[in-house]
Amino acid sequence: MEENSKRIVIVGGGLVGALCAYYFGKRGYRIDLYEYREDIRRSKSPRGRSINLSLSNRGRLALRDVGLEEEVLKSAVPMVGRRVHFQNGKVQSILYDEFTNQCIYSVGRNFLNKFLLTAIESLPNVLLHFDCKLIDVNLKTDELTFYRCSSQDYLRVTGDLIIGADGAFSCLRRSLQSTPLFDCSQTYIDHGYIELRISPEQSHLMKPNHLHIWPRGSMMLIALPNIDKSWTVTLFMPLSEFDRLVYKEMVLEFFKQVFPDVIPLIGTDQLVNDVIRTKPSVLVSIKCSKLHYRDKFLIVGDAAHAIVPFYGQGMNAGFEDCTVLNNLLDKYSEDFGRVLEEFTRLRKWFDKQMHRVVEDKWQPLYYSVTFTHTKYEVCLQQRDWQSKVLKRSLLLFGIVALSFSALTFINIT
Ligand code: FAD
Repeated sequence: MEENSKRIVIVGGGLVGALCAYYFGKRGYRIDLYEYREDIRRSKSPRGRSINLSLSNRGRLALRDVGLEEEVLKSAVPMVGRRVHFQNGKVQSILYDEFTNQCIYSVGRNFLNKFLLTAIESLPNVLLHFDCKLIDVNLKTDELTFYRCSSQDYLRVTGDLIIGADGAFSCLRRSLQSTPLFDCSQTYIDHGYIELRISPEQSHLMKPNHLHIWPRGSMMLIALPNIDKSWTVTLFMPLSEFDRLVYKEMVLEFFKQVFPDVIPLIGTDQLVNDVIRTKPSVLVSIKCSKLHYRDKFLIVGDAAHAIVPFYGQGMNAGFEDCTVLNNLLDKYSEDFGRVLEEFTRLRKWFDKQMHRVVEDKWQPLYYSVTFTHTKYEVCLQQRDWQSKVLKRSLLLFGIVALSFSALTFINIT
């Protein structure tokens, strides 16, 4: 690894910030990563969102490029298909890919975050600073101010490049919004989610190596397997529906009507208590017109493009940011100005396509988004092409069938 005297400051040590630090660290830069939380490897009750995540090809490629994929997959559970639980009690498996047996992986968020932090700590040129909350960005002096809760003091730092990987409610992004032509929209959807758990003892009731789904119109329940044989269940539904589940009887009645087969999986008492006790989390999507400012500031991951979780693409797309950045650093010989310009151009386009992709429901599109690292834009072009081919084939088939019937009719008569 060649040493590089340039200093990179990364804000946020979540999944994307940690992987980004590893990429830049491997290139020899001096890295300082500042994270608001305490070190989750030492924390007894780590905070954060979903317990497990689906890792698909885009994310895997980003891990593979820096030699981390193999180790991550050892602690992940492969999911070969979706197991759909219909309202009428029928259950059906839909393989993700019956031709080449590709699958996605369920991986623990905390495991992955801890693993990445340990990986970056092994690089001599990377320093981790926990309990440092970014509270101010001075865009004139390029100075960041962090607040340290434990010592109740402030820290002022700067760098040659400052990367915000501080999540959907990014402080760095908020500052960049004051710069010219930096538009940004933040949209809450009216759905929230809570997490429940199926214990390893009940695991025999679940078909292994599948992502289980209970689709119910505006509500959806999914279950992803964990390495300890438990399952993490996520219930998505409009927040107004959660508001109605106040008493135990109401919860039980609701599940009896909508998800009756889930009751024995979680257990009545556990289910009712967990639903009543858990406050639903909200879901937000972020779109920005720019992702950088000058050759100095950049935002990545959820800070730049948070999306709703239904397609399981947020982390995968954030990891892909790291691959794209790395390729651009090669392409432009580490000229930050050109790298950042092009990154914004590429990812803005991605953002537009991704939101179109997320709104689409067609299965083969899911395939190309999940199992390939084809650009999202190309996935959509392929889908349009497939639709055209399908229409033409149907037309041709219709003409052939009509001609055949006509000939048969002529022969008979
Ligand atoms: P975050 O994970 O939010 O990390 C940001 C980090 O920055 C945190 O550590 C935070 O403490 C720190 N931070 C915040 N503010 C500051 C500050 N001021 N100063 C310093 N540090 C700060 N994606 C998938 O690909 N597959 C899935 O299956 C999937 N499932 C999901 C299920 C749910 C219910 C949800 C909500 C999301 C899901 N996602 C999934 C999306 C995925 O969780 C995110 O895209 C991913 O976590 C983004 O990573 P990030 O590092 O950009 O942001």
